[in-house]
Amino acid sequence: MSIISMTCPRCRKGKLFVTPYRVSTAYQMLEACPHCSQSYQPEPGFYYGAMFVSYILSAWLFLGIGLTLVFGFSWSILPTLLTVLIVTVLLHNYLFRISRSIWIHLFVKFDSKYE
Ligand SMILES: [Zn+2]
Repeated sequence: MSIISMTCPRCRKGKLFVTPYRVSTAYQMLEACPHCSQSYQPEPGFYYGAMFVSYILSAWLFLGIGLTLVFGFSWSILPTLLTVLIVTVLLHNYLFRISRSIWIHLFVKFDSKYE
């Protein structure tokens, strides 16, 4: 659940991103966990891999929405693409954040002594 709540993978307490959420700081991660001091920037370019996670999430999501609208509701292509575009704009920040959260959780393991 710490992936969804976007908290530190090691202690599951500290937030990964600057809070409260603002558009101006939507992409800013903290340098390290305020609770256990786990670095959120283990190495330069660490989050390049999160782009692949983001691509996989968004491709499956948008493919699912598109196929559902076209084959389930008999929508034509243009309104379907516009709907997918609107969903893309609305979910962009969330997909960015959740992709980074998934990525760091792949490499940093939970440690109960920081709980
Ligand atoms: Zn932590």
